[in-house]
Amino acid sequence: MASSATIRSEIYDREERKQQYQAHIRGLNAYERHKKFLKDYVRFYGKDKPTEVKLPVKTDHDTLREGYRFIRSEEDDLNPSWEQRLVKRYYDKLFKEYCIADMSRYKTGQMGLRWRTEKEVMSGKGQFMCGSKQCHEIEGLLNLQVNFSYHEAGEHKQALVKLVTCERFIRSEEDDLNPSWEQRLVKRYYDKLFKEYCIADMSRYKTGQMGLRWRTEKEVMSGKGQFMCGSKQCHEIEGLLNLQVNFSYHEAGEHKQALVKLVTCERCAEKLYYKRRKDAERSESKEKKRQKRKRNRSSSEDDIEEEERRKGKKNKSKLEGCEREGKDDENFDEFMEGMFPGKGDN
Ligand SMILES: [Zn+2]
Ligand SMILES: [Zn+2]
Repeated sequence: MASSATIRSEIYDREERKQQYQAHIRGLNAYERHKKFLKDYVRFYGKDKPTEVKLPVKTDHDTLREGYRFIRSEEDDLNPSWEQRLVKRYYDKLFKEYCIADMSRYKTGQMGLRWRTEKEVMSGKGQFMCGSKQCHEIEGLLNLQVNFSYHEAGEHKQALVKLVTCERFIRSEEDDLNPSWEQRLVKRYYDKLFKEYCIADMSRYKTGQMGLRWRTEKEVMSGKGQFMCGSKQCHEIEGLLNLQVNFSYHEAGEHKQALVKLVTCERCAEKLYYKRRKDAERSESKEKKRQKRKRNRSSSEDDIEEEERRKGKKNKSKLEGCEREGKDDENFDEFMEGMFPGKGDN
């Protein structure tokens, strides 16, 4: 059994080795560190280990010694040093971090992806050398993130993985992905349409309830909710009003809120105020005044804000402010001006 002094000195040695190791690798760049880690990986967990154990003739003494060594190395594995754990962590990570791409059919937009083999991990292929299967470029490499679907243990998995490529690949990819200014303008407009106008379910308007949802692609394409009344069942295209409504919705597990546009015909707009009007009619004039004051103060969800109608101008400038914050260095908005009318612009 080890004395407490021995244990203490072992802990001290371990700590000192760790600090030396840290000091050493801190001064290395990524590639140097990679080489060091992999060299050490082989040293710590090397493949030549099993062959060492092979002994042609065993004496009792050998067996005893081997058993002892076996226990020792098992112990080492179960109690690895900080350096060993660091190196192992790095090595394991490498297999599920970078991938290799088969870009032979890149012009059709198809690209095959796979994890790296051990040989590739060791050589740095796909990490310090272009990850395109046939390419050996090591200069001017770029780190991309790609969505990789793969099968593992009978399961379908998806991961965002790193793909390192030389600039030559990027440029050719870019050619495919590099739409003209007009294309981008049109795309910007199209994307915007999905989060601009909404469709309202007014079937329960008598209870004051209204369901809202974004438009489907079909509705975006047909202009439903934009050039035709946004009430689900209505097809009116004349005398449309542009309203702004507060829309609460869920997206990617998050609760979101937005001020969106709701286009309605005059008849449907009446429905929006139906309950309020009825309530108001029923109450006494004094009560009515009190309610109105209260309504002006509160901001209810999923409902038309009469007060916001009055403040239309204010809301509009707020929206414009948001858009300016977004990236628009290509003056897209200038060319989409008036395509997303606010209230009153109708
Ligand atoms: Zn390349
Ligand atoms: Zn309508």
